[in-house]
Amino acid sequence: MKPMPQIAFLECSRCNHHVSADTPQTLCPLCAGSLYVRYDMDALKRTARREDPAARASASNTSLGMWRYAAVLPDVAPVTLGEGWTPMLQSKRYPGLHIKEEGANPTGTFKARGLGLAVTMAKHYGLEHLAVPSAGNAASALAAYAAAAGIAAHIFMPQDVPFANYLEGIVYGADVNMIDGLISDCARIVGERIKQQKDSSTPINEVWFDISTLKEPFRVEGKKTMGYELVEQLGWTYPDAVFYPTGGGVGLIGMWKAFEEMEALGWVSGKRPKMYALQAAGCEPIVKAFEQHKPTSEFFPNADTFAAGLRVPKPYGDYIILDILAQSGGKAIASDDATILQSILDYARNEGLFLSPEGAAATAAYDQLLKSGELKPTDKVVLFNTGAGLKYTDMTAEAMHLRRPNEKKPTLPTSLPVGGIITPQ
Ligand SMILES: [Zn+2]
Repeated sequence: MKPMPQIAFLECSRCNHHVSADTPQTLCPLCAGSLYVRYDMDALKRTARREDPAARASASNTSLGMWRYAAVLPDVAPVTLGEGWTPMLQSKRYPGLHIKEEGANPTGTFKARGLGLAVTMAKHYGLEHLAVPSAGNAASALAAYAAAAGIAAHIFMPQDVPFANYLEGIVYGADVNMIDGLISDCARIVGERIKQQKDSSTPINEVWFDISTLKEPFRVEGKKTMGYELVEQLGWTYPDAVFYPTGGGVGLIGMWKAFEEMEALGWVSGKRPKMYALQAAGCEPIVKAFEQHKPTSEFFPNADTFAAGLRVPKPYGDYIILDILAQSGGKAIASDDATILQSILDYARNEGLFLSPEGAAATAAYDQLLKSGELKPTDKVVLFNTGAGLKYTDMTAEAMHLRRPNEKKPTLPTSLPVGGIITPQ
């Protein structure tokens, strides 16, 4: 196994226990907390330059994508499909609003960053089977990167995910399992399967590795590049606020880690942005916990929203998300599906952007805070559209009760409620 000079150790986010990164790791062996990748920051400070030649050269050549930040990522050969360095678009209407278009990533969502790095590390470690419970888009991204790496992908997602997620899994050749339940049910099944494999003495190279959000250290590490990127794209300065649609919350957690690292490296200074976690009223565990000043969330019952990526009834990293909201002076806000749909249409018609329902949960909250006067149109805000609206054509059309004109045999369901079950045939 190749040495990994840059990673000093993995550190538990809860009890600060240190674990070696020489072999694949999942959770803290002492307390089951999520593990963070830690580097020797003094050594990095001497070698990593924010204006280094590689970064300068790549400023005009975007093909490096998130790997332009290779100086602050594990020193391994990337499995890349061109993820990262997505556009930062200035709003046509609000001078301070910048929309970070993560729909430009491979497989159309921000999930490409985390799974790009997690699959890169899996290949480095020689893992042969990766399994993931997903609300949809993580499954698509894993399927693509596993195919690129020549590794088997086992994906478990609710049977009513957007059709694109199902199609991508099949097209990329993954082992696709559609579950009658939520991501929490998928996570339980993956855990049970792995336990069965271990109990039945399945050969070690055939045992699945659980690549779930926050249950291994490298998805956060890939997503931290969103923090580096937004600061670089604003001329190495912080915005006043960051608006982030929050299902599992890994993007928020990764960005906060990036800010901490950039400050240690002297790449940015000043007041960190207020972090806003945006959810849908049909699944708002973080909003509930935030409003009740609780350190962790409670399982949100009967999760139901067409913002499929926000149907995470109890995020594993809830304690980290809530801590970041409190530390930054931000907050958690939920919008209902009707308001989210209105916001999709508003930004499409007035800005030329087809947002995902998750992204529109963020714009809906932004508009709400503008109206209440809590935000001014000139406040510098970076708002993430976490995925391309085109990945949700079936669900958005269904929410709009839209079908093709003159359609004799409708191929889209028109009468199912939002979030209803569409079983792929
Ligand atoms: Zn721990």
